[in-house]
Amino acid sequence: MALELDHYCPDCEKDRTFWRAASTTLHLGEKTKWRCPECNYSFVTIDGIDSSQSDIEA
Ligand SMILES: [Zn+2]
Repeated sequence: MALELDHYCPDCEKDRTFWRAASTTLHLGEKTKWRCPECNYSFVTIDGIDSSQSDIEA
């Protein structure tokens, strides 16, 4: 899994290169937290799928 991810940041209102802030293995798969280096906005993916809409925290 990559340590960086190009993703749209809604706070910056542009694409940013997010840093992997944390990673946890769940029964659902690998949960990864990504953080925008510019504004500290973060979101979570599970097995590479954006799950920010479901607001999962562990
Ligand atoms: Zn940002």
